[in-house]
Amino acid sequence: MNYLIGFILLILIIAPFIASFKIEWGIYLRSTCKIDTKEKEVAITFDDGPDKENLPELLDMLEQKSVTSTFFFIGKSIRENPEMLVRTNLAGHKIGIHTYSHAPMLPFYSVKRLAYEIYLTRHLIKSVINKDVSLFRPPFGVTNPNIAYVVYRTNLKSIGWNIRSFDTISKSDDRVVSRISKRLRPGSIILLHSNIRGAAVLAGKVIDEVRSKGYKIVNI
Ligand SMILES: [Zn+2]
Repeated sequence: MNYLIGFILLILIIAPFIASFKIEWGIYLRSTCKIDTKEKEVAITFDDGPDKENLPELLDMLEQKSVTSTFFFIGKSIRENPEMLVRTNLAGHKIGIHTYSHAPMLPFYSVKRLAYEIYLTRHLIKSVINKDVSLFRPPFGVTNPNIAYVVYRTNLKSIGWNIRSFDTISKSDDRVVSRISKRLRPGSIILLHSNIRGAAVLAGKVIDEVRSKGYKIVNI
């Protein structure tokens, strides 16, 4: 009996922690993690840009394949590479906010500090491309009551994913592609990163695989 009570207590303690890493559960913040469609359509999204090293080639690749996506950009990277935001916007992609600092400690930030992260980034995007963006992706997919409060109060729309590619840690493109391929469903939102080495080549392979399975690539 004591074991049972201990087990229940353990679940009660760790559940909120696990929930903060499970964006698709929507416990703290409701996020769009799939497109509302029954058709064979999926969306590809890119986090952690803009950078000068990998993004230009990726944009060329997407143009070649006639794909438009959504890029969740980090404020401080926009400050360093504003011309890359201009280029991404001009290529017809959607831009979203991925906070200003993308700091590892961000999930522990106060409401005030989080609000400032959003404000700075939104303002920066507006000053560069004259667009008021409203899409938001929480860094690391972490959500909690503070992040949820700020997102609701600033009228942002949180966008998650339901296919995590693990492109930042995977040893080969083929593994990433096959992981995505196995999980493809109508309405899937795929998470990739625009700032990793070989991002363009990988994106090209993902696009070819998705299309070979009869899926159309749409934007969110
Ligand atoms: Zn990120």
